[in-house]
Amino acid sequence: MINGTNFIGSTPSGQGEETLFSYNPVDGSAFAESFAVAGTDEINQAVDKAVSAFQAYQSISNQAKADFLDAIADEIMALGDELVERACGESGLPAGRIQGERGRTCNQLKMFASLVREGSWVEAIIDTAIPDRAPVPKPDLRMMQIPIGPVVVFGASNFPLAFSTAGGDTASALAAGNPVIVKGHESHLGTNELVSKAILAAAAKTGMPEGVYSMVNGGIPVGQQLVKHPGVKAVGFTGSLRGGRALFDLANQREEPIPVYAEMGSINPTFLMPEKLGEDPEGLGKSFAGSVTLGVGQFCTNPGLLVGVKSEALDTFSKSLADGLAGATGTMLNAKIAESYYQHRDALLNEAGVAHEGNTEKAEGNTARALTAIVSASAFLENPRLHEEIFGPFTLLVVCDSAAEMELIAAGLQGQLTGTLVATENDLTQNDTVVKNLQQKVGRILFNGVPTGVEVCPAMHHGGPYPASTNAKYTSVGTTAISRFTRPVSYQNWPDRLLPAELQRDNPLGIWRLVNGERTKS
Ligand code: NAP
Repeated sequence: MINGTNFIGSTPSGQGEETLFSYNPVDGSAFAESFAVAGTDEINQAVDKAVSAFQAYQSISNQAKADFLDAIADEIMALGDELVERACGESGLPAGRIQGERGRTCNQLKMFASLVREGSWVEAIIDTAIPDRAPVPKPDLRMMQIPIGPVVVFGASNFPLAFSTAGGDTASALAAGNPVIVKGHESHLGTNELVSKAILAAAAKTGMPEGVYSMVNGGIPVGQQLVKHPGVKAVGFTGSLRGGRALFDLANQREEPIPVYAEMGSINPTFLMPEKLGEDPEGLGKSFAGSVTLGVGQFCTNPGLLVGVKSEALDTFSKSLADGLAGATGTMLNAKIAESYYQHRDALLNEAGVAHEGNTEKAEGNTARALTAIVSASAFLENPRLHEEIFGPFTLLVVCDSAAEMELIAAGLQGQLTGTLVATENDLTQNDTVVKNLQQKVGRILFNGVPTGVEVCPAMHHGGPYPASTNAKYTSVGTTAISRFTRPVSYQNWPDRLLPAELQRDNPLGIWRLVNGERTKS
């Protein structure tokens, strides 16, 4: 059952006069519950509780932390259909998609539980002393990752479960040993409350300290107060470039600046190489139409830019793509996102040299109509407005006169989450400058296929140079996401029995370590 409350630690709280409602984007109807906006006192209490909880939570055993993460997954599953129905109702996404996302969310939690239970994630490095080294003795140095402190997580609109309340940011921050305060997304207030209750039930069952998790509702001022609070030590965010950049700037203006790991927009360029394109231009057009419209185009990996050299095959691809998009419609996540889709798309269509076919009329309510547009490489290169993300079922096809123009396009791109090469191996060797230029711009480079679909596994990198993210070194998906919420500490000449177990001489946890340059479990 949903009560429309905040959770300050395990205490339900909602004294403020200001309230929010969530809406069903399909018909615009409001859900019954009103959600209290957190006041300054509630925000301060949530952070104070997180600071206190950090004292205990940072040093509880790996096993206990892993049990907590597993228990969150179990509690989420135990919410059953109520969660699926609410998340579908608040996002307009179909039940199959939400069930899949719930599975992904729980698998992420369990993956971090396994990582923590195994223990090697702390990246222990040991350089033993050389007392008789000349001219000066070498000290004993032992380094490992430790948690950073309370983390604020901003839920994403486009993944109400997997990138929200108990999504990858929360799972990785908790796994590292940090309390979390979630600022739920205004679109999914009920979903956020249900999942928050699941987290708190898991915390109670596994004996976690009070304040290990809090959740507050509210708009931009609430998020800003959290980011400015001196007790907060890092931020995880998925959303717009404007929002991510604003929070990044705010965090850097603090007396003590803190890291903001923001995953923001991307147009995910795809380069259509001639040999591969010639094999099946029609099939490729269909396949990209499917990728552009998947989830009504509301994926951060949506292929928003397609680049090819003028040819008959490119014409066939373009027609097949347009045919695949013709008539494709879908409900967007919320009214603001639907409005923004048409506004940004129409502004792009009015830029010099941009042509399009198909119906551009605004559809009823929050429905988006899919569309593709075409522009020459020279017009694209001249106009930075054509490089911006249109969040929704839209893609821009850039037609080059030559392979050299493709190289210029790849060199002129902003930072991206992904870059795709639709190519044969021969195409790659013939166009190695495009490949090299693209690699400089992206966090993940794909050989064939489509960029939509992000595998959750250790080798995934879901991030990229700015503006795709605020720090190209880190990923928000996969196990290495944990390193966003840790920092290294070196212990010099420390008594063995007082070192963390991960660094003790006998390796009591039996974890992988780098000892005098050798990776070993001994
Ligand atoms: P958003 O506007 O960036 O909002 C995300 C979260 O950050 C929300 O909780 C929002 O609060 C908060 N926020 C935004 N600006 C803030 C600021 N200046 N200070 C403090 N908090 C701030 O993203 P969205 O609502 O998910 O979607 C809006 C647009 O973002 C979309 O149309 C799309 O262009 C883009 N987007 C991109 C991706 C991607 O992965 N590429 C994903 C999602 C959205 P409120 O809830 O109070 O607004």
